[in-house]
Amino acid sequence: MRSLVAFALILGTLSGVARAAELTVYSARIEDLIKPVFDRYTEETGTTIRFITDKEGPLLQRLRAEGKSSPADILLTVDAGNLWQAAKLGVLQPIESETLEKNIPAHLRDKDNNWFGFSIRARTAVYHPGRVKPAELSSYEDLATAKWKDRLCLRTSKKVYNQSLVAMMTAELGAERTEEVVRGWVANLATAPFASDNEVLEAIAAGRCDVGLVNTYYYGRMVRNDPELPLKLFWLNQKPSKGKQLAGVHVNVSGAGLTANSPNKQEAIKFLEWLSSKEAQGLFAALNLEFPVNPDVEPDPLTAHWGPFKQDQINLSEAGKGQADAVRLMDRSGYR
Ligand code: FE
Repeated sequence: MRSLVAFALILGTLSGVARAAELTVYSARIEDLIKPVFDRYTEETGTTIRFITDKEGPLLQRLRAEGKSSPADILLTVDAGNLWQAAKLGVLQPIESETLEKNIPAHLRDKDNNWFGFSIRARTAVYHPGRVKPAELSSYEDLATAKWKDRLCLRTSKKVYNQSLVAMMTAELGAERTEEVVRGWVANLATAPFASDNEVLEAIAAGRCDVGLVNTYYYGRMVRNDPELPLKLFWLNQKPSKGKQLAGVHVNVSGAGLTANSPNKQEAIKFLEWLSSKEAQGLFAALNLEFPVNPDVEPDPLTAHWGPFKQDQINLSEAGKGQADAVRLMDRSGYR
């Protein structure tokens, strides 16, 4: 019996039909946020997806050290600043794909096609409804004015989310105006910057400050666990103003690119195209309470409940390009 099975296996291998496709993903996103998506792809196509998860830095180091012998086909990570850095280090390669170009708006992908956004994260204001009337809120830039003195909470400038925000502001408003805004934020801080978005939310809920800037999925998770929390979300920069300001909510992405030495290039491109499709987008975005990049896909009910918002449409490459300057700008503005 055993020899019959072995014989069948050899036949299968020789005729090339028994080998199912396989992909390897290096992911800076945790397993909970990616595995359900990979499982669905395997169900639909038979392609198995192996993955490792680690922090951004070690994954990039690993890709560089492995070089041509790397088993990785795809690098999956968050923040355009990180994706831009990966492209600059040469661990990604461009993809020509009409499907990706059609499904993903231009501002959410690299102009040179080295990486593509697959879910949108929005960084906007959350406020304490007992201490702030929504009519008081308007823009990122307004949070730098004196009426918010001792009322603002921020996460540390060391986090790439804030570096990307300031880099994109600089690209859109210029360094002088951006520095004026950042200095204003620092002057308005109720307390020293926090290590995480969650701590910002906790501080607002506890009444230590009135308003803060966070990625909306942290807000979503926190109010899902405790709907009684005194926290409300506000979409900033939805109306034009006299002063120079961003043209909509600052958005960033979780995204991915084809690795420079991918052993399964065509399969990897097929997977990324599927990830941008209607069937995959809803699931991928909903796993972290983010928003689909594909404009044809409805957001998850919980996130849809926060209402539609206008995004700032500046290309996300600016987040990477301006990152080093943003760090220097925040440093000289006293933003720790
Ligand atoms: Fe995050």
